[in-house]
Amino acid sequence: MAELEGLEFGKSDFVLLDEVTMEQFMENLKLRFEKGRIYTFIGEVVVSVNPYREMDIYGKEVVEAYRGRELYENPPHLFSVADAAYKTMKRRAKDTCIVISGESGAGKTEASKYIMQYIAAITNPSQRAEVESVKNVLLKSNCVLEAFGNAKTNRNNNSSRFGKYMDINFNFNGDPTGGHINNYLLEKVRAWRKLLRGGSEEMLQSLFLQRDPSFYIYTREGASSSVSCSNLRAAVLTALKVIGFRAQEIDSIYMILGAILHLGNLEFATDGESVRVTAPQAVENIAILTSTTAADVSKALLFRTVATGGGEVIDKGHSEQEANYGRDAFSKALYERLFSWIVSRINAVIEVKDYNPVLHGKNTVIGVLDIYGFEIFDNNSFEQFCINYCNEKLHQLFIELILRQEQEEYDREGIPWQHIDYCNNQIIVDLVEQPHRGIISILDEACLGVGKVTDVMCLESMDSKLGQHPHYTSRKLSPTDKSLEFQRHFRIRHYAGDVTYSVEGFLEKNKDPLFQDFKRLMFNSTNPVLSEMWPEGRLDITEVTKRPLTAATLFKNSIVALVDKLACKDPYYVRCIKPNEVKSPMLFDDARCRHQVAYLGLLENVRVRRAGFAYRQPYNRFLQRYKMTCEYTWPNHLMESDREAVEAIVKQHDFHDDVEYGHTKLFVRTPRSLFTLEQERAAL
Ligand code: ATP
Ligand code: MG
Repeated sequence: MAELEGLEFGKSDFVLLDEVTMEQFMENLKLRFEKGRIYTFIGEVVVSVNPYREMDIYGKEVVEAYRGRELYENPPHLFSVADAAYKTMKRRAKDTCIVISGESGAGKTEASKYIMQYIAAITNPSQRAEVESVKNVLLKSNCVLEAFGNAKTNRNNNSSRFGKYMDINFNFNGDPTGGHINNYLLEKVRAWRKLLRGGSEEMLQSLFLQRDPSFYIYTREGASSSVSCSNLRAAVLTALKVIGFRAQEIDSIYMILGAILHLGNLEFATDGESVRVTAPQAVENIAILTSTTAADVSKALLFRTVATGGGEVIDKGHSEQEANYGRDAFSKALYERLFSWIVSRINAVIEVKDYNPVLHGKNTVIGVLDIYGFEIFDNNSFEQFCINYCNEKLHQLFIELILRQEQEEYDREGIPWQHIDYCNNQIIVDLVEQPHRGIISILDEACLGVGKVTDVMCLESMDSKLGQHPHYTSRKLSPTDKSLEFQRHFRIRHYAGDVTYSVEGFLEKNKDPLFQDFKRLMFNSTNPVLSEMWPEGRLDITEVTKRPLTAATLFKNSIVALVDKLACKDPYYVRCIKPNEVKSPMLFDDARCRHQVAYLGLLENVRVRRAGFAYRQPYNRFLQRYKMTCEYTWPNHLMESDREAVEAIVKQHDFHDDVEYGHTKLFVRTPRSLFTLEQERAAL
């Protein structure tokens, strides 16, 4: 609970609102933003509004002010959360995690970096070399992941196109000993623009590349971005080396990126019965860069090996359309594999080795999750479906953990359990993930179907199986909208609001779209780095009997595993809000912020927080602040304990019925009581 800062800056904790309404919430959020107070608590949760300007609030002195302090001793800040997570981990030897969510451009990645910097700043006071080197690799890994996983979008110049969860391990001294990174759902191929602009002449030549990004289909979009790339490229190179990538590995990374650019420019033409590549030189280049032969590359692009019913294996020529499709799937897969491989290489370096709990004490963890928030666009597709499902899971976990935390605190303080009413979204989670009946199952079934199953057929199946579900609206049940558009849509009532999804492309995106021929091509590369990325290319077509898991199922499995990891930790939350669409430090766009407050479930959050008690504080802190409002406690009390002195204050102000007395803290149900005290204090 935050110190009650001067009210001219608004309320530093939303639980102190007179009433939990959207109006009051927004008023407070806006006032604070305009006063340069970008952080506000909801209990232990920090709500952050992107300032879109440099703030002088992350320096050394500020770190010192927050270090080792209690949450309520300082104004709300990312450091409050970082320190609380660290303290709990160290004092109570508990694993903790910090979940950062919000929409694109809201400031999640920046927040996660400040949190990491804070943790780096407060640990290893004795500057032990091995700890410093672990810290260095952990911090540098951000730079590498951003270089490969971020891209300029119209919402954010440096948008993370993947979700990231990073565990930091600590020894019993509270110093970092290593870590582990998980990445989630990297969005489609974004070949690396900076490669062209920042690359040396020599390097570009060795990759057979032109410098002009607009020459390549994959780099054409956004080619005019003005980021200083040569510095960035140098920084990435340094980071790769510090992390411990070998020269051959770094070369391979560049060669794969080069191959992707060449692939993007490949075109096909049909001559009579057969399809050919229009520019054979590009095929040569790809072969050299991937350490394969031009003949093999060409074959993988134009043919597909299939097993006939009689067990015979034949090469079936692609149509031009199939060849285009195969090429795109291949370049996306190359990029995705590269990214995952980079993550796994970093993990191999930062993995905690030779940790002996008997010798070194209990190994504890702080997890930091930087993941996309709820998304509602004009056109919502498979990606939004996955992201929003993920947010349902996280919301469910959030409610569960907050309730657990409350319960634990009541138990610790010896006060009776208070019932908390909340919106349980289990039913929506089930709608998506339930075996056999959920949307993912229906999708998977459609992908396995023999013959040509279309997106619309899949939608029909969903409608017939889920039509009665209270959170699903089938197009048939919406007689008001008979337009053709709506014929391809379904709607889910999410906890954060209704989202209409277009089923177009769902099946395609859900299938593993990559022909086995490409996997085999890469596995057979004479470059061991590349071959290692494609282990399943070893299989022959006749051996590929088991269908690979679908994208939705893989995603679901990874989110279920993530939730399991988070569930056994003490959670801390940062909720990020983007104040406007134009990256302005001045503008607070009311409607946009209101949406986000709704999608983030912040009002619900305040309600759950206040359901039991709006305010709680250790007796000595409470006394310190309010002792002057009561004759028995000013200037000092003569009672047996602080608790009795607090009771005297409460009785004098007549809100005895509004409180419970815990072992060490006073719990106040409504903020009203507190304001009486505040007013009196101010009047003195
Ligand atoms: P995405 O989901 O697209 O990755 P994000 O939530 O991670 O978005 P960030 O990349 O963290 O968003 O922030 C976007 C931009 O906003 C930053 O590049 C920076 O310019 C600005 N910004 C965010 N947080 C802060 C901050 N605390 N101080 C100053 N500027 C900030
Ligand atoms: Mg980001």
